[in-house]
Amino acid sequence: MPDSFKHLILCSVAGLASVLLDAPAQAEGEVNIYSARKEDLIKPLLDDFSKQAGVTVNLVTGKEEALLQRLQSEGANTPADLLLTTDAGRLAAAREAGVLQAVNSDALAARIPAAYRDPDGYWYGLSVRARPIIYAKDRVKPADLSTYEDLADPKWKGKVCVRSSDSVYNQSLVAGMIGHQGEAKTEAWAKGLVANFARPPKGGDRDQIKAVAAGECDVTLANTYYLGGMIVSGDDAEKQAAAKVAVFWPGAKTAGVHVNVSGAGVTANARNRANAIQLLEFMASDAAQRWYAETNNEYPVNPAIAPSATLKAWGEFKADTLNVAKLGELNPAAVRLMDRAGWK
Ligand code: FE
Repeated sequence: MPDSFKHLILCSVAGLASVLLDAPAQAEGEVNIYSARKEDLIKPLLDDFSKQAGVTVNLVTGKEEALLQRLQSEGANTPADLLLTTDAGRLAAAREAGVLQAVNSDALAARIPAAYRDPDGYWYGLSVRARPIIYAKDRVKPADLSTYEDLADPKWKGKVCVRSSDSVYNQSLVAGMIGHQGEAKTEAWAKGLVANFARPPKGGDRDQIKAVAAGECDVTLANTYYLGGMIVSGDDAEKQAAAKVAVFWPGAKTAGVHVNVSGAGVTANARNRANAIQLLEFMASDAAQRWYAETNNEYPVNPAIAPSATLKAWGEFKADTLNVAKLGELNPAAVRLMDRAGWK
């Protein structure tokens, strides 16, 4: 046998050996997640994935900022393969911090609309939340409402409750406005909105909804899953508050309703990269999308999947088509602008 041919066989045997060694390692392998989402919100899904893929899933749950800091300080030694978090602003910050890597997947590209993922594949949206206007049913007529911009009109003086500018949700909303109409117009709007505040910002989105229900203010901005959660809440006070308010979808004739995503990205130093990608693809699949979205009263990121009955009852809306990655890019400008506008 000529030497070159022997060499070829040896190479293919070596190639085969590495395939054989890799395959079981993957099938019996693991994937490690740092998650800013509550455990009960994703655990059943991860268990399903484990069963289907034969991959052990290890979950570390923590606060957004703490997980990002941990990833940064662990660097190449991090055990994390996947970072799961909410808000495109935070996902963009993770990319900016260098803790994520680009992933290209036909399955992810097919299931997740381009507006809901990083243009370079550093992270993918897995669920969608909208931030509409929530109003008091007994004091506000839907006909009085139109756009976010209109909430800066003096007719709303003393009638607006909004949480603080520390909230990444408000930062992202303002970033989206900057993306559409520039800083000058957005700043004038923010000043008008602040002038209409019924009280200094305090509490979270649920607290704003409760304040509207209690008559402290007439309108607020809140993420849809908070109201959805209150509607199906086991807490009677929350349920009763939710019954006093309704959703108005602003911006039908302008940019549309501000939307954001929860999502995930493969870490820059992932040791189980293939498993992490497989898990991402699983979370974007039809059944996982349905479960994941319903469990937290969010909209599926895949438009082919219908939202839950609770969300469907609010009707359809025109979602802002701005790529959510822009919200991260414009976050620093938004934070400075809100500060200038006196938004506490
Ligand atoms: Fe939230």
